[in-house]
Amino acid sequence: MSLIVQKFGGTSVGDTKRIALVADMIIKAKKAGDDIVVVVSAMGSSTDKLVKMAREITDKPDTREMDVLLSTGEQTTVALLCMALHARGYKAKSYTGSQIPVSTDDVHTKARILEIDTDKIRKDLNNDFVVVVAGFQGMSSEGDITTLGRGGSDTTAVALATKLMARECQIYTDVDGVYTVDPRVVPLAKRLDKISFEEMLELASLGAKVLQLRAVEFAGKFKVPLRVLSSFKEGSGTLITLEEDIMEKPVLSGIAHNKNEAKLSLSGIPYDFAIAAKVIGPISDANIDVDVIVQEVSADRLVNITFTVNNDDCKEAEQILKRTAKELKAANMLVVNNIAKVSLVGVGMRSHPGIASTMFRALAAEGIEILLISTSEIKVSVIIDEKYLELACRVLHTAFELDKGPEQ
Ligand code: ASP
Ligand code: MG
Repeated sequence: MSLIVQKFGGTSVGDTKRIALVADMIIKAKKAGDDIVVVVSAMGSSTDKLVKMAREITDKPDTREMDVLLSTGEQTTVALLCMALHARGYKAKSYTGSQIPVSTDDVHTKARILEIDTDKIRKDLNNDFVVVVAGFQGMSSEGDITTLGRGGSDTTAVALATKLMARECQIYTDVDGVYTVDPRVVPLAKRLDKISFEEMLELASLGAKVLQLRAVEFAGKFKVPLRVLSSFKEGSGTLITLEEDIMEKPVLSGIAHNKNEAKLSLSGIPYDFAIAAKVIGPISDANIDVDVIVQEVSADRLVNITFTVNNDDCKEAEQILKRTAKELKAANMLVVNNIAKVSLVGVGMRSHPGIASTMFRALAAEGIEILLISTSEIKVSVIIDEKYLELACRVLHTAFELDKGPEQ
């Protein structure tokens, strides 16, 4: 019997009317012949409301109690959804994470799944039940309730799909798939039918927030096909799958952008073979993520080094860099806040040379200055002035013929 795991996010189960609609969607899938295991999030923004209530009581809520509190959101949804399925004449049974159990480590509020016992689920499925599991939660070795970190229901769904060897893990949300570029920035953005795990990871880490990064990593590792689709609109969504399952690989799958970046540089540093370690080391030691790094040595043996960080970390990075500048006797220090990163992502790059040069020409034709460049096997990123961000995305979307959408 083939099995699918369907996960419905917070907006998809935002109120009882939505829960009723979700019940209808589950029934439709069940009628098509699959065994169905459902994972749900808390209704709407109820997790945020629970967090807010805890903060009204204390600044530092005990993390064990926080997990007891937060897990109630999903517990509410599983019960209501089962009632909706019963009302439609279907057998359904709800489970909290501890009842399954979904065994986790004991790191409260950001626990990791260690093992899932599927005995009860299998038995229920054999007796024709729809099994509805509360996402985002598990049980520690002590028998305490744990939660998996915000957005963790995606991870529950993928972990269950892996363990149950589901043919697909469907993530229902409020967008109808993964797009070639953010549709709010480029109206001609096209929905992708398929994308590889590797590309999705790049897009997700670059700011396309459709799926929890950890869930994509997990699905890729265990080769569980993931499908992102809307619970508000019919459609087949976007399938995230293995590269070898995508026959027609486009050269480029998507364009990601990130506004929230800052650029810091030191220039005119007297030569020292370990400059990069001395400049970047203290920044990393402060737990600040460094992104693009460029270093060069001029003919007169002066070193320039530039790197980017998230804007939120810029102030702290600047303070650290000031100290380094003094130590290394740098001539200048420069901090620029209003920059953005635009990246082209595509596994097709491996076999198509010239992607970077096409990108640079397209940007140059519009007078957009490139401040920094970084590349990896399936990605080319440029740092530009933030004011050109939308223009750059639009121009590149056209230059790489993404406006046309996938070939038929
Ligand atoms: N309800 C939890 C959250 O909002 C988990 C989830 O929805 O994935 O983070
Ligand atoms: Mg989510």
